[in-house]
Amino acid sequence: MKIYNTLSKKKEDFVPIEEGKVRMYVCGPTVYNLIHIGNARPMIVFDTVRRYMEYKGYDVNYVSNFTDVDDKIIKKAMEEGVDASVISKRYIEECKKDMAAMNVKPATTHPLATNEIGGMLDMIETLMEKGYAYKAEDGTVYFRTRNFKEYGKLSHKNLDDLQGGNRSLLVSGAEQKEDALDFVLWKPKKEGEPYWESPWCDGRPGWHIECSVMSKKYLGDEIDIHAGGEDLVFPHHENEIAQSEAANGKIFSKYWMHNAFLNIDNRKMSKSAGNFFTVRDISEKYDLQILRFFMLSAHYRSPLNFSAELMEAAKNGYERIVTSVGNLNYLLENAPSGELKDGERELLEEAGAFTDRFDEAMDDDFNTADAIAAIFELVKFANTHAGQESSKAFLQALKEEIKELSDICGLIVEKKEELLDADIEALIEERQAARKEKNFARADEIRKELLDKGIILEDTREGVKWKRA
Ligand code: AMP
Ligand code: ZN
Repeated sequence: MKIYNTLSKKKEDFVPIEEGKVRMYVCGPTVYNLIHIGNARPMIVFDTVRRYMEYKGYDVNYVSNFTDVDDKIIKKAMEEGVDASVISKRYIEECKKDMAAMNVKPATTHPLATNEIGGMLDMIETLMEKGYAYKAEDGTVYFRTRNFKEYGKLSHKNLDDLQGGNRSLLVSGAEQKEDALDFVLWKPKKEGEPYWESPWCDGRPGWHIECSVMSKKYLGDEIDIHAGGEDLVFPHHENEIAQSEAANGKIFSKYWMHNAFLNIDNRKMSKSAGNFFTVRDISEKYDLQILRFFMLSAHYRSPLNFSAELMEAAKNGYERIVTSVGNLNYLLENAPSGELKDGERELLEEAGAFTDRFDEAMDDDFNTADAIAAIFELVKFANTHAGQESSKAFLQALKEEIKELSDICGLIVEKKEELLDADIEALIEERQAARKEKNFARADEIRKELLDKGIILEDTREGVKWKRA
């Protein structure tokens, strides 16, 4: 498996630190609003990386944070006259709903910055002790960037270039810094803002320190993959490397992966220019599986343009796979025998080549565009060779192959018949009646029927409750 590493600017063989295990950290969103479709790109892309690694047998520990203290959150809280935590909690919940609808698996851990302040104080303290940090007069603590000799190694920037004419590259900050490149680790509180006590001043952390600390706590000092959108390379990830490697004295992450940006109609997404969509906006028009398909139809390191035409193309592509699985299910209902028939074994061997092609594409730095092309070829093969004469075993094997490859992409391609609420309640009533008559066989049968359709029953003191799995 090869991964393009932003550090070396090369595709490198993936060799995990610990055999069979992957420790992966993906910078998550700042939660002050519904997530937009740009935020959805890293979520979908790195969820697919995780799924592929799991398919390859790795045990993946996947950590992705929510930044729940930040200027934008505080501003919104002030506008609404509520606590910042009300805003962050609300949008974390909404973000999780969008993730579920896009079939993005929950992370192994989703830490919140505000729960990890203690770890941040410890790391800043260590940096102070090692001479990598200093306190300014007003209590702000800065990272002494020039002391970290490898600063710039990820973004391939030279310290003197940063210091020199190009102001846009300077990390912003106040006059009181020793050096223009120094960045904030801890800053004093402002009136009405959330704050925590610290040895330097009552205040709150700078943004970069949270990821260094959460990554260390949940994954250890050295991790395999650190990922995020390409806008994070500088300064966020560069600063994370400086903090972590200075504090821990170890290489922070072996591989650094960055997705390119999502644009709309070939322009940068911008709220004021009116070309901006939340994931929720898109869900009103499309099944979010189509958004997922769209995101994976390009390589993650290529810029991707969102447009109505491309979404329509994604819809057609996705439906081609769903239709093929639907047809296989239809044939399966009436298929004659269970055993493979003459010639079917050879056909299945041929079909296996599409999985090899899929794996090859994914092994080449997660080329999902080519991987999806392999699924299409498999679908075409299935459409050509599956028929009314096919055996159950043959149809089932083809269906499983399509489903497995789609599942690695996080695409749900088998549509289960959806039960309406009224149907569910009617069945629950029937089950209650059966129980009253001590017809437990029928009652169990109904429970199982519902379970098969993804409905879970719970017998409580207040009666029967149900939920969708
Ligand atoms: P933020 O909440 O701005 O910190 O962003 C969360 C994640 O979304 C980061 O990994 C960003 O790099 C990524 N991101 C934000 N906007 C876009 C975009 N237009 N295209 C791709 N990724 C983006
Ligand atoms: Zn981060």
